[in-house]
Amino acid sequence: MIPGSRGRAGALGAGAPLSELRGIGPQRARALAAAGLETVEDLLFHLPFRYEDRRRLTSVAALAGEGSYLVGGRLTRVQRVRVRRRGLSLVRALLVDGSGELPVVWFNRPYLPAQLLPETDYLLYGELRRQGDGWQLVNPSCEPAGRALHAARLVPVYGAAGGHGPAFLRRLLDQILDRIDLEGELPERLPPELLERHGLEPLPAALRGLHRPADDADPARLAARRTPAHLRLIYGELLEHQIRLALARREVRRRPKRHCYDARLEVGELARELLPFEPTAAQLRVAGEVAADLRDRGPMLRLVQGDVGCGKTAIAAVALALAAESGLQAALMAPTELLAAQHHRTLEGWLGGRYRLALLTASTPAAGRLRRRLAAGDVRIVVGTHALIQEAVEFRELALVVVDEQHRFGVVQRQLLEAKGERPDLLVMTATPIPRSLALTAYGDLDLSLVDELPPGRQPVDTRLVPARARPRLYARLGERLAAGDQAYVVYPLIEESDRLEAASIEAAGEAVRRALPEVPSAVVHGRMPAAEREQAMAGFAAGRLRVLVATTVVEVGVDVPRATVMIIESAERYGLSQLHQLRGRVGRGERAGVCVAVHGRLTAEAKRRLEVFAGCNDGFQIAEEDLAIRGPGELLGTRQAGGPGYRIADLAADRRWLECARRDARELIARRGWPAAAALLPPDRGAPGDRPPLSGG
Ligand code: ADP
Ligand code: MG
Repeated sequence: MIPGSRGRAGALGAGAPLSELRGIGPQRARALAAAGLETVEDLLFHLPFRYEDRRRLTSVAALAGEGSYLVGGRLTRVQRVRVRRRGLSLVRALLVDGSGELPVVWFNRPYLPAQLLPETDYLLYGELRRQGDGWQLVNPSCEPAGRALHAARLVPVYGAAGGHGPAFLRRLLDQILDRIDLEGELPERLPPELLERHGLEPLPAALRGLHRPADDADPARLAARRTPAHLRLIYGELLEHQIRLALARREVRRRPKRHCYDARLEVGELARELLPFEPTAAQLRVAGEVAADLRDRGPMLRLVQGDVGCGKTAIAAVALALAAESGLQAALMAPTELLAAQHHRTLEGWLGGRYRLALLTASTPAAGRLRRRLAAGDVRIVVGTHALIQEAVEFRELALVVVDEQHRFGVVQRQLLEAKGERPDLLVMTATPIPRSLALTAYGDLDLSLVDELPPGRQPVDTRLVPARARPRLYARLGERLAAGDQAYVVYPLIEESDRLEAASIEAAGEAVRRALPEVPSAVVHGRMPAAEREQAMAGFAAGRLRVLVATTVVEVGVDVPRATVMIIESAERYGLSQLHQLRGRVGRGERAGVCVAVHGRLTAEAKRRLEVFAGCNDGFQIAEEDLAIRGPGELLGTRQAGGPGYRIADLAADRRWLECARRDARELIARRGWPAAAALLPPDRGAPGDRPPLSGG
């Protein structure tokens, strides 16, 4: 039971630890802290996820069938009943309300009889169940009339936390609201015109109303999270986050960088000199945006988004060349060794004649010597994996960092690599488009460039869904295409249990493909094989000697073999939409149209929807939005463990419109009132979401 009162009523601060609450000892405080609830404010922002309408009182005579009811009256014949089963206790009573009598039973409330007050009306809310040929109320809440917390009102229902259910949390919040001065502790900081513009309730009233809804509140609107109170909290959180992003960005941009690019370089000219193809208008435009940033006094912070195959590598190449041509060092960071090696090969071909390039991954031979050459400034452009952010790597003067992000690098890695240089310029490229709302959250501190055009002659990939039982026919067709000169990928889902298992299962898959197509030279690649072997297989495939590449998803990330035209994705139901789109993007890169076959087993309704969206849509931007709707933000950013982008209340999928508002308002606020005023809108440092990076390391 709840121990005696500690602390004075009304004296509760928002930042007070939960141990200041009656009923919270050290053990409960620890359990709640583990669930992310440490302070009174944390609990206040732990909103009910739904509300139960327990407002209607039913007279005993009017009870009609099974269901939950609120009844009220005197309790008589209250008695503990002896039961033989150990650990079980029973209390029975009779509720009398003037219209009739209703038997009531409680399990495991042995102290209840002693707590009941004489001559008092009680309100009971619980389930009515059949008992013999009559009815009884089972395990109802039981509170004196006029002071009911769990009944006779719209009752907030909280998600369990720290092993405590809704009733316990309801009592805690009730206590908090009794003891805290909300207006003083959590005053409204937003300017009144913003509240008015969006129809928001001021913060203290909003919090009060959400935990103690007014008697006439509408439960459906509350459930939809669209009351002025909800909107205040959603909008407020998003606005805070946008202001924090803007402040962080300003912090980086404000101090001028030391390095300096050659201002005479002309981007279009450089691009045409270096690239083996005519750049698209979109590539030129984005390269121009990048070049303008590079010439700017503050460091560049830019995100390049574009659909798979739009040619982001070429844009990176131009940026890297701008640095190298100006006598500076630049780095390109890729998420896998395979991709780093491929980027290195590509760039070597385009830029190798002019500048010294190097590849640095965990399996680079003579990495020590390479490091010394980097430190000496001998190597201009280095391509690598996360090995690049290891402590030992030093540059003479790192001016530009390009991150081929592929959704896998978190903010943490980004910042680490940036720290290698004296305020280097940063260019981030995403693998497939990400929904705008996510981009604004995870990358809101970056400027955005869109590559909204594909190189000429691209045809949409013809996508088919094929059930696994049709596999023999599929491979027969594949054989015909290969005989006609095509090349194909066959992709198997990654098996995460162990390296050995992964290697074994992909080898077995390779064997199956060889049996199905005995005449065709094929090879297997996966993430765990020695880099040299993998490189050899990739090179054989790129050169056309190998006709089929059997792979785990290592090919997902940006592999570029323009002659490959067929993509077979096994167990396609196991992939997310963006991943499927990314895989499909491996084919149809040359003149010949690509075909993508998604082979699937039994489908859940969700998987079916996902695959249908995939087959029906070739536009990465549209796919990204669908993916967000289907999977939610956490999954999409690969931050499942971290639980999404770190909002307490806002929901990126449901609240996108508000995110856009918040972004616009944050900018307008800063422009109109200046930085200090914007910073003053942030609550004092109590660990709001913006303090944590929105993404933890991928
Ligand atoms: P992504 O944007 O997915 O990283 P890549 O940079 O890998 O795309 O480019 C996809 C393919 O398109 C590559 O083979 C690349 O050489 C080619 N490519 C890029 N830009 C052009 C262009 N302007 N004209 C023709 N081919 C291009
Ligand atoms: Mg790429």
